[in-house]
Amino acid sequence: MGKRFFIKTFGCQMNVNDSEKIAGILASAGYEKTESLEDADVVVVNTCSVRAKPDNKAYSFIGELKRLKKQRPDVTVVVTGCVPQKDWKFITERYSHVDIVLGTFNFYKVLDFIRSGKRPVVEVLETYSEKEMDVLPLIEPVLTNPHVASVTVQRGCNRFCTYCIVPFVRGRERSVPPDRVVDEVKRLAERGVKEIHLLGQNVDFYRYGNVRLPDLLYMVSQVEGIERVRFMTSHPAGFDLSIIKAIAGIPEVCEYVHLPPQSGSNRILKKMNRGYTREEYIEKVLMLKEEVPDVALSGDFIVGFPGETVDDFEQTLSLVEECVFDQAFVFEYSPRPMTEAFLLEDNVPAEEKNRRLTELNNLLKKQAKERNALLVGSMQEILIEGLSPSNDKKMIGRTRNNKIVLIDRDDSLEGKLVNVEITEASSFFMKGRVIKQMAGVEKW
Ligand code: SF4
Repeated sequence: MGKRFFIKTFGCQMNVNDSEKIAGILASAGYEKTESLEDADVVVVNTCSVRAKPDNKAYSFIGELKRLKKQRPDVTVVVTGCVPQKDWKFITERYSHVDIVLGTFNFYKVLDFIRSGKRPVVEVLETYSEKEMDVLPLIEPVLTNPHVASVTVQRGCNRFCTYCIVPFVRGRERSVPPDRVVDEVKRLAERGVKEIHLLGQNVDFYRYGNVRLPDLLYMVSQVEGIERVRFMTSHPAGFDLSIIKAIAGIPEVCEYVHLPPQSGSNRILKKMNRGYTREEYIEKVLMLKEEVPDVALSGDFIVGFPGETVDDFEQTLSLVEECVFDQAFVFEYSPRPMTEAFLLEDNVPAEEKNRRLTELNNLLKKQAKERNALLVGSMQEILIEGLSPSNDKKMIGRTRNNKIVLIDRDDSLEGKLVNVEITEASSFFMKGRVIKQMAGVEKW
């Protein structure tokens, strides 16, 4: 039997994409993917340190691997991602069962290190240049979803929001050359992928020579076989009319924008060093909704930032009332080492953070339900991604504006774009009925 690998991924879509690449590297060398830790010869932990919670979860998972390593000393344990980027020394000192520690800049060397047989190995680079990015190997990822794939087009960040560890663990902003992006998308399209997500920490700031994000969206949309294109994460300081026009004007670009406001209080936005005001945020959202009426707006919020008063929090609630979100993620502030805010007193009590989180979540949930309810009775184009993970009599798909729709199981529809009449809606998903014939759409 060939060797097997198991990957545990924490964190964002970029980490998922990196894990797909790590899986691709190992698969190209004959390793087989397994979902069972006990069967694995190589265990890769791809970590996240953006908040305290995933950071702690990664450590607890790494700790649990000690037992596995004791039972089977031949298992190779690899830790990569954002946590080693800040804590590689601590990991090597504290967790002697970890064989290979790799940072965010060199995870793609994983196979070389496994094969070298040298243990322990630590390679955590502080950065790499844009030029080096040109020569990184093109990797065929093992896709989590064969119909929808992500392509990382930009890594790192120059903005230094005072609460965020990303610039320290992912380095400065670097954009991937557009011909490389297009090449990667073509290869994915040849494998049957229909929907592409262009990923960047601040994707609106994508820039390579004269090529900006709207140009890149156009180039990727032209690839044969690609029916849908999304991009994330947007930054309110970089999101502008040229991007809005690209969403409105390029048919393949979906009507969905993830534009995190983080707070609705100008005082807190300034303390966070976000680089925009609530008025500027609201103005951009109104402009977006005017140009792209079907757009779904998504966002992230932090509650309980140091010094956030009840009045500041109420301004966040009022921003939400003004903008109306289809989807959002709310996090309680947690101090991250290396950041500027780490030096501030974390002075909003835990119960108050939790109260604000619940209140904001309730408002966002209500908005999501109302927005979804507006679609009941309408016809929506859905890309069927596969079986519902929680009900094998249902299939799951997404609308162009990224809303989840469940339909009755019909395996012949997997990977197809179908037209669905929305019959029911809740805050998190909708139900629908497939309509086989619909004027103007002949996707299947
Ligand atoms: S823009 Fe701010 S929140 Fe986003 S990755 Fe950069 S520093 Fe972090």
